[in-house]
Amino acid sequence: MPHVITQACCGDASCVYACPVNCIHPTPDEPDFGIAEMLYIDPATCVDCGACVSACPVGAITPGHRLSETAARFADVNAGHYPDSAPGDARFPVRQEWRLPMAPISKPKRLRGAAPDELRIAIVGSGPSAMYAADELLKHTQVTVTVFERLSEPFGLARFGVAPDHESTRTVTNLFDEIARDPNLEIRLNTEVGRDISLDELRRTHHAVLWAGGAPTDRPLQLPGVDLDGVQSATSVVGWYNGHPDFRYSAPDLDTERAVVIGNGNVALDVARIFTADPDRLAPTTIDRTALAALRGSAIREVVVVARRGPEHAAFTLPELIGLADGPARVWVDPAELVDVDASDVADTTIAAKIALLAEISQRPKPDEPFIRLSFGYTPQEICGDARATGVRFVRTGTDEELVIPAGLVLSAIGYRGRPVPGLPFDEATGTVANVAGRIVDGAEPLAGLYVTGWIKRGPSGFIGTNKTDSGETVRKLLADAEAGALPRPGGAPVAV
Ligand SMILES: Cc1cc2nc3c(=O)[nH]c(=O)nc-3n(C[C@H](O)[C@H](O)[C@H](O)COP(=O)(O)OP(=O)(O)OC[C@H]3O[C@@H](n4cnc5c(N)ncnc54)[C@H](O)[C@@H]3O)c2cc1C
Ligand code: SF4
Ligand code: SF4
Repeated sequence: MPHVITQACCGDASCVYACPVNCIHPTPDEPDFGIAEMLYIDPATCVDCGACVSACPVGAITPGHRLSETAARFADVNAGHYPDSAPGDARFPVRQEWRLPMAPISKPKRLRGAAPDELRIAIVGSGPSAMYAADELLKHTQVTVTVFERLSEPFGLARFGVAPDHESTRTVTNLFDEIARDPNLEIRLNTEVGRDISLDELRRTHHAVLWAGGAPTDRPLQLPGVDLDGVQSATSVVGWYNGHPDFRYSAPDLDTERAVVIGNGNVALDVARIFTADPDRLAPTTIDRTALAALRGSAIREVVVVARRGPEHAAFTLPELIGLADGPARVWVDPAELVDVDASDVADTTIAAKIALLAEISQRPKPDEPFIRLSFGYTPQEICGDARATGVRFVRTGTDEELVIPAGLVLSAIGYRGRPVPGLPFDEATGTVANVAGRIVDGAEPLAGLYVTGWIKRGPSGFIGTNKTDSGETVRKLLADAEAGALPRPGGAPVAV
């Protein structure tokens, strides 16, 4: 039976290069890679060799016959990506260079041209984009990397964002630990660039600085009533249950029967799942212990995740919806909110699969409390209440029909945005450091020795593994500049912090 990719897939594409028969798509050089919600194995051409399993950093691939009940649906999801495939499919020719070895073993490389004998790189941030960049850089024998991280623990949102019940996804930090063991890599924790050390100092003491500081700010919810007690961002709740030091004092008030989450991306689902989970199931995870104690005393019976548009525009991904529908979470959709959509009218297979699964959920009996309700087609107008939130007033999108959902806790989950970085040019329109393929630019002019990667380079989209391809692009530019002699020469030894 062919192998199957499941929910934890974070898109780093290691499996693509491990597969000897080119049956995992989209590959990073195919156009839909950037928008894919996961990668898929073609069951007609998979030869069941298992090479991809060990290449996957998050344990997302499993032989079809070992699929758990909760992941069974992923066999169809993988096959659905290749509706007409058959062995020897001409669209996906077996590439000779991928045949052997099964998993590429990269040999240390030496930079050529005008590259210096020792190439000193500073990376700001230690999230996924930083660690993938460091990995790529350290394949070259002349390179030494120093990573500067403001927090006392490394790995950014892989540690402080990913939900604690996504244990498989969190194992990606084992890969980052492995990268961090490289003797040419040093990580300096508790060191904020711009506070404990300046960007100028880094530039003076390194050939290049690679900014990988992420895009940590919420898009602000602009509604009357957002300043009431009981209204906060989903980000602050994520930080709270993951023990992020910035959100130690962001405990949500759980002494209410209903919470409303505005926005329906994967982060909204994460928060809804954690709020409605059995605390005993969360106890063995890395969830913050204070948060766990608070969740044990929670009065929440229902979390309503509300989207402005219909299910055909749902922001959550199909793998996350499957995880919600078939896992331990209790979830429900009002069938009345799905009457206007029909999966068979939708050409996009992923969107059609989401609609079909939502329709299936809507036919289930309403679950026991506490449960999650996914709601579609309501535009928020105001948060009601005097000092505290008491509910949210919506209108049915495109109509005047009003609806008030009573709730003592209101969370905004409408996306992220990068903050300007002092000393670096910023593109206000995209909320990113201005760059061309990772080279930081001022207008059209590249700034020698300055590079950017990750969410602050391309905006807050994509999965953990998406940063691997992104960082690969930036590192290629940096190394090309090194070989062309285009990097400034550092003036002195690295400063002590
Ligand atoms: C709540 C949430 C849940 C997610 N869950 C998943 C998931 O389940 N699966 C998945 O594939 N993807 C998930 N993602 C997406 C994934 O986390 C991101 O794609 C990825 O973390 C982006 O990497 P990054 O390196 O650009 O930024 P980050 O991970 O944000 O890392 C940036 C790092 O830079 C540090 N930093 C910032 N400024 C400075 C400074 N001045 N000096 C020193 N250090 C600094 C920060 O402290 C941080 O450690 C999630 C995202 C969020 C927000
Ligand atoms: S089991 Fe082998 S053939 Fe099948 S997807 Fe994995 S690497 Fe490719
Ligand atoms: S996480 Fe990476 S290696 Fe694992 S299945 Fe997804 S793309 Fe393949």
